[in-house]
Amino acid sequence: MQPRTVDLEQLAWSWSPDPGLEELTVTRTHSSGETIEIPVARIKGTKPGPQMTVMSGMHAGEYSGILAAQKLISDVKADELSGTLLVIPVISTRAFMDRNMQLSPVDQKEVHFIRPGNPGGTYSDMLIDTLFDVVKDSEYLIDSHAGEMAQSLMSWVPVPMRGANELSSRSLELARGFEVEYVEPRHELSSIPPFCVALLNAGIANIWVECGKNGVPTEADTATHFDGYIAALQTMKMLDGSPARPRQKLLKGNRSQINSEQSGVWHPAIKEGEMVESGQYLGRLTDYFGNTLEEFHSPARSLVLYYWSSPAINAERRPHGYDWHNGLVSLLDLEE
Ligand SMILES: [Zn+2]
Repeated sequence: MQPRTVDLEQLAWSWSPDPGLEELTVTRTHSSGETIEIPVARIKGTKPGPQMTVMSGMHAGEYSGILAAQKLISDVKADELSGTLLVIPVISTRAFMDRNMQLSPVDQKEVHFIRPGNPGGTYSDMLIDTLFDVVKDSEYLIDSHAGEMAQSLMSWVPVPMRGANELSSRSLELARGFEVEYVEPRHELSSIPPFCVALLNAGIANIWVECGKNGVPTEADTATHFDGYIAALQTMKMLDGSPARPRQKLLKGNRSQINSEQSGVWHPAIKEGEMVESGQYLGRLTDYFGNTLEEFHSPARSLVLYYWSSPAINAERRPHGYDWHNGLVSLLDLEE
């Protein structure tokens, strides 16, 4: 069965007033001729309650959350649900079907760092504006991410902590059911992606979940996303049952990223989730023949959140100034 396709302007009155599952594809045409296409499932519960959105595939090669979101659509039943659950398994079908990695295949933008409200901009500006319009009536939002093919990533849940205390504490509550070692409350505005800031400004408690690595959707990582969604729905009394509360530690520190200023072949010497000491060797960059160009060391005692496992480091390729192709290691220097 082909899902119904509706233009964004028609979305508000396209949903059925009755409880149950509906699947449709929201579309919008960009001035470049590219079509924005966002698949959205809505499960309207038989009992009243808040609205939660679960979304994934903002970065199209982060697959574990996409598979977990699909399972959520098939597993949550309207007669067990209080309120409304929106599930967006893939944010850009264009990027997904390209097997694209991280930056938009259309305009090379990093969409997590785009603020909604600029539909007249590039394709990614309109994509994020459309996405925001779809989710804007939610009370809660969970955004699933993972490590792309080039990225070995530690699983953790960052929590944007701006806005009223009550909003921040509800965001933290969303994170508590995910079976990850670390939850990271982020207070500094500069450390919170603009899309998350826009959600908070609209009163939407939200988190993003990083679980999975190297573009491989393992059963275990998919289950971590899925079980976390169920726990969040139980926490917000949208599903019956007492939510899982796995042991988590709170992370506090400053992010830093080790970049290479020259292109070359990267040989990392660390693993994701590892603690490195100040001055510890992180790896080296070589030329194509294997001759060392530069060695890299940690500036401080830090946790390795992720590192680029791809050996290809391209210092010239910095679309919109973004340091994705010359990034080597992402660190969090821990405040003791
Ligand atoms: Zn991501």
